[in-house]
This record gives sequence, structure tokens and C-alpha cells, in this order.
Amino acid sequence: MHEISIAGAIIESVLDAARKNNAIRVKEVFLEIGELTALNPDQLKFIFETITAGTIAQGATYNIQVIKPVINCTKCSYNGPIEFFEKLHFFLPTIKCPRCGETDVEIVGGRECCVRKINIS
Ligand SMILES: [Zn+2]
Repeated sequence: MHEISIAGAIIESVLDAARKNNAIRVKEVFLEIGELTALNPDQLKFIFETITAGTIAQGATYNIQVIKPVINCTKCSYNGPIEFFEKLHFFLPTIKCPRCGETDVEIVGGRECCVRKINIS
């Protein structure tokens, strides 16, 4: 359940940004979550709703965009999505280049966990 600590950090930054903009209410939160973070969007939403109770972000809507993993192959210079990766929970999966099978690849997408935008009033 690493969702709880991550959700807490996300809400902290949302509330911080809202305060700096003198918001009285956070209406919508747009997030990008990489598939490789193994974060469950539904679980995240549930935690957000729970921990924002009593704050200006109470009742906000969460739009979570899941980002597919994208790699850069160091061998054949393939750049693009990977077709398959093992379901991960507590360990990192082996990621291979779909073109040449190389495992020494650079992960350029799929690890995002960030707030894109918030709507406040
Ligand atoms: Zn390759």
C-alpha cells in the first residue's frame, strides 16, 4: 500500500499550490500516473477522498491519466512503447526491447507521478 504515502505527498503539493493562489476550494485535480509506478488509480482516488476531508480539496474531482511505459533501447535505438511487462507489485519487472530483446534499456516514460493541473476557485 505505498499509495498512501504517495497520495499524501500529492495532496500536500495540491494544497500548497492552492494556498499560494488564495484558493477557497480545489475543484479538480489532473494527474499523470505512469503504469510502472504500480499505483492503482481507483485506490488513489479513494485515498484522496479520505485524506482531503475537512480541507479545501474536499469533494474535488480527480482525473487520472495512466501513462504507458516507453523505452529507449541502447542497442538498436528503438524508441517507443513496450508491448508486455510482467505485472509488478513489489519488484521491478524485467523490461526488454520489443525489437531486439535487449534488457539494457532506458525507461523514458511510465514512471510519472505528478500533478498536471488543478482547478481552483
Ligand atoms: Zn533494441
